[in-house]
Amino acid sequence: MRRDVSSELIEKLDVEKVSGLLDIPEHRITGAIQRKTLQYVRGKQDLFRFDKPISGIEAGTCIFIKPFDVVRGFPKIPRALILHPGIASHFPTCEKVAVEEKMNGYNVRVALIDDEIAGLTRGGFVCPYTTEKARELVGCDFFLQHPDLVLCGEMVGPDSPYVPKSIYDIESLEFFVFDIREKLTGKPMPVKTRRRLVDEYGLRSVRLFGEYDVEKAHTEIAGIIRGFGMSLNEGVVIKDPEMLLSPVKYTSSMSNCADLRYAFEFYNDYGRDFFFPRVCREAFQAVEWNETEDKLEERCRMLGQSILMPMIKTIRKKKDGGRITETVQIRVRNLNTAREFEEHLRLLGVDAIFEEPEKTGDGYLVRIHKKYHSTSDKTESILRGELWS
Ligand code: ATP
Ligand code: MG
Repeated sequence: MRRDVSSELIEKLDVEKVSGLLDIPEHRITGAIQRKTLQYVRGKQDLFRFDKPISGIEAGTCIFIKPFDVVRGFPKIPRALILHPGIASHFPTCEKVAVEEKMNGYNVRVALIDDEIAGLTRGGFVCPYTTEKARELVGCDFFLQHPDLVLCGEMVGPDSPYVPKSIYDIESLEFFVFDIREKLTGKPMPVKTRRRLVDEYGLRSVRLFGEYDVEKAHTEIAGIIRGFGMSLNEGVVIKDPEMLLSPVKYTSSMSNCADLRYAFEFYNDYGRDFFFPRVCREAFQAVEWNETEDKLEERCRMLGQSILMPMIKTIRKKKDGGRITETVQIRVRNLNTAREFEEHLRLLGVDAIFEEPEKTGDGYLVRIHKKYHSTSDKTESILRGELWS
């Protein structure tokens, strides 16, 4: 008789141990495996990943099987839509808040797994490219002394296969730490202690703008965001210096519009989820900043352009017989990493074409074309005369 797939998976996991360590009832763990909320991922290091949060355990939490290890997911950061009284009401027990730059890249947790450094992406996958970069950029020193800590940070730069950005004057890819947490509990370190530790190991931290009185923070933050001007700096993350309360994020209109421009180029793949919250952010910011008619007009024009122009570009491209793709690039030392990354994207369900690697000074540059089928098919069918249903 064929055995149920989920019972085979359940046998791979020490359910009793996980239940004790993470304080989740055993039946919730087995149920989650059956419903595929807790997913098995085969790889160099086999693991279970939480696809969604369960019983207070964050999505993206990884349970490694052999040797057994747990790395908690990176928690969601709520967003303030208005600074005043948003900040003061979120941090009622703090005298001051620390304000750090919110960098725009992708979230990575670097941890020691089975005596080797692994780069985990937000969803709880070990990404082969991120792992190669983490080994280069972070090295082992930190983990020799702190094997039970996780470095959480943003991978930023043009050689990013997930969120490529050229706004920071970074040549390839850099790792900026914004949190140090305990592997098993996810407990974060206070801001100053964390920044000192990062410095000690010669690693990079995200920029700290300063610590401000909670009551005055909204004015300072508005100044910081306005100070970004036309540049595409994303925004700030406001933190309890002791990290007892959850941080809060606040972003600029320029980066909001940049996100929309990106999403609407692939409108049928991303557009919907992007649209509504981003319009709300613009409206609240406009009111809080008490904008003049001219400023409001400018904001409306920017928002409209960010939505329509990329869609028009996509429709024209399709009309001319082009393909709807996004080109990203990775820079690897070892060609194996590129091959493993190709496999990884397949696992994530991303359809991508990898160009032939180009030899560079100390490695290879590989261009990758990600295909957006939903946008491509929808646009094509409408251009053929089909109706929007
Ligand atoms: P979330 O699930 O937290 O809402 P999201 O995918 O919507 O995340 P963002 O809107 O980019 O992501 O905001 C949160 C992310 O910002 C974090 O997951 C982290 O990767 C990133 N980030 C960048 N700079 C910082 C910083 N200084 N402190 C904390 N997080 C930062
Ligand atoms: Mg982000």
